[in-house]
Amino acid sequence: MPELLIEGARLIDPFNRLDGVMDVAVSRGRIAAVGKTLEKEGREVLDARGKVLAPGFLEVHAHLREPGREDAETLQSGLEAALHGGYTAVCCMPNTEPPLDNAAIAEAVAARARELGLADLFPVGCISRGREGRELAEMALMHLSAARVCAFSDDGSGVQDAGLMRRAMEYVTAFGALIISHAEDAALSLGGQVNEGAVSTAMGLRGIPALAEEVMVARDLLLAEETGCRLHLAHLSTARSVRMLRDAKKRGVPVTAEATPHHLLMSDRDIDGYDTVFKVNPPLRTPADMQALRKATGDGIIDAVASDHAPHTLEDKEREFDYAPFGVVGMESVFPMLYSELVLTGALDLTRLIELLTSGPARVLGVPATDYGMGIIVGARADLVLLDVDGTWTLDAREFASKGRNCPFHGRVVKGRIHCTLKNGKIAYRAPNTGSA
Ligand SMILES: [Zn+2]
Ligand SMILES: [Zn+2]
Repeated sequence: MPELLIEGARLIDPFNRLDGVMDVAVSRGRIAAVGKTLEKEGREVLDARGKVLAPGFLEVHAHLREPGREDAETLQSGLEAALHGGYTAVCCMPNTEPPLDNAAIAEAVAARARELGLADLFPVGCISRGREGRELAEMALMHLSAARVCAFSDDGSGVQDAGLMRRAMEYVTAFGALIISHAEDAALSLGGQVNEGAVSTAMGLRGIPALAEEVMVARDLLLAEETGCRLHLAHLSTARSVRMLRDAKKRGVPVTAEATPHHLLMSDRDIDGYDTVFKVNPPLRTPADMQALRKATGDGIIDAVASDHAPHTLEDKEREFDYAPFGVVGMESVFPMLYSELVLTGALDLTRLIELLTSGPARVLGVPATDYGMGIIVGARADLVLLDVDGTWTLDAREFASKGRNCPFHGRVVKGRIHCTLKNGKIAYRAPNTGSA
């Protein structure tokens, strides 16, 4: 007997190319029926008229800080933040303390996430031991472990040694895993705080040139072309990186890429005084870079939106600009910000935005559809998000489930809210005072 009926939502499911007003019945954690008007008898009814129902989002790039910096975030607070943001699955980056560079620690993190029973977790493993860039980490063992690590990255820093990156690509190609590149040439970015240019000069801060990213994007594209390795470029930020990505895709290089909301919605001109909430890596670039990213996101060259969720304690973030860590929190503001700033302005359509948060990241990761991404069809796990696309509200970082408060969009009046998130058929998150939007 189905337990829940989600009534009258506009269903947008990029996995099955569905778009229409439908009822969805959920039973025992799975989708039991999808149809025009389903029987209500004996079912709890969730009135979803005027709202949009989509598959739960997949975050391809988040920092959850456990183990080691539980004061900044824990698996629990991070995965709760995910549910608040509409995500039912999250990839966590391995730059924890200690880093996820061996099977035992990857398994411990995966087991802890399963025990929590919030959003699903896909741990990303390190490319190099200790993220030191000197020797390869236990990539095959992590892949074969119960954690089933299917993507590897030294995110937080770039792999400086081209020979090591080449060996990593050759190695993971043998078992079909993915390399995620944090493209940053450390010699070019050394000591930089913001984008190199007029703004860094005006602020009197050392700049991070666009070249620091572009040199490594070029290198990693060549290495992927040579080795046949699946390569994913994290947080692209410059127009020239986008141009190289476009050319590489045209040549058939097996590459995908992500853009973050902060790079899509802000440029270095938006940095407000010396407020460290705007300090991110890669830095906010020029308005022209932002426009190039937006265009590539709209036309399909960028495959996924990733928040690069990077929580920091107030204590750490409220230092002088030079000494504050890089990063913003993101998972709870992604949908409202992109919906308000790109969809409602006509720059991106809603279906494309949902693709960038669901089927796009699923294609990037190549996770089996049984783990994520069957969409809204009978038999699929009921991991869903119900979106309120009409209500106006104010983003308040103090209300985030994340421990991080470092959100550059705090205080913004937005439209588009996660009304509720369902995980395994249960309402795992419901917006406060729903009804009044
Ligand atoms: Zn990174
Ligand atoms: Zn990152």
